[in-house]
Amino acid sequence: MEHSTADSRATARSWTPQRTACRFLLLLTMLVGATGCSQQETTELLPPPQKKIYNPPYPNDPVTPFQIIGNIYYVGMANYSAYLISTPEGLILLDTMLESTLPVLQENIRKLGFKVEDIKILLQAHAHVDHVGGLVDMKQLTGAKVYVMAEDADVLADGGVSDFRGDGRQLWKPVQADVILQDGDQITLGGTTMAAHLTAGHTKGCTTWSTQTEEGGQIYNVVFVCSNRVNDNIPMIDNPKYPNMPEDFASGFAKLKSLPCDVFLASHAFMFNMQEKRTRQEQGAEPNPFIDPEGYRTYIADFEYDFRYRLQQERLEKQSQY
Ligand SMILES: [Zn+2]
Repeated sequence: MEHSTADSRATARSWTPQRTACRFLLLLTMLVGATGCSQQETTELLPPPQKKIYNPPYPNDPVTPFQIIGNIYYVGMANYSAYLISTPEGLILLDTMLESTLPVLQENIRKLGFKVEDIKILLQAHAHVDHVGGLVDMKQLTGAKVYVMAEDADVLADGGVSDFRGDGRQLWKPVQADVILQDGDQITLGGTTMAAHLTAGHTKGCTTWSTQTEEGGQIYNVVFVCSNRVNDNIPMIDNPKYPNMPEDFASGFAKLKSLPCDVFLASHAFMFNMQEKRTRQEQGAEPNPFIDPEGYRTYIADFEYDFRYRLQQERLEKQSQY
């Protein structure tokens, strides 16, 4: 409709030939991709993902806290994760969830027989309210030190005002880091070492943590995945608030692939099927259902595909606008 009328208009729009050329290029790109002539990701035309990668709208109900494996405990909710790591010299807490869920978090820690006051180190997956909303209160309550990946430190300190997803409003109580981390840094407490891996894109400092734990005389590599989910309705290409977003996502996936993983955990329970694994664990399943290297690889494959597909869609949309 638009095409047939555009040509006949006296005010011949200058964009029409350009647009036609762009469409031709787009078609060429599709054909090149379809014939497999090019290995470049930009020319592969990906079909829509079979799995929908999203945060399912299930309720964020309390969960009875439990031992995942070795010295690692689940103290989070049905949706938002929080992990307690016990050592002979005190506790490490990874993620504090929301300010409103703080009483549940504290109760969960106590239910497991630990003392909130014994928390020495506070870590986060990334600077979003569902992971850091309770952080400043927990810091004040325990006197524990807050360790933050450098790229998330500023946004954590301004309470989300500078969040590239946000509109300049404060989203959580600001938290000043005690220690700024760089990619690959390690933190050791009571013989347990937590390694910080920058897997950015979801936030600029999105941090995947890894450690080792022992159970039944075996040592297991544990990975706490940050989140590699593309933010809805946030442009990835030429985003002035985050120019390197696509590159960061891509290197994050490469980083995850390089990490040895036996026990796969993540910042949201749905990402690693927490409920289903916990049910099997309660039923006495052997080996421990949280030992799931295949699930880890599937997570990476699914989220990477979703990222590449969405990036392609954004590129195609941009091209068709010319
Ligand atoms: Zn997030």
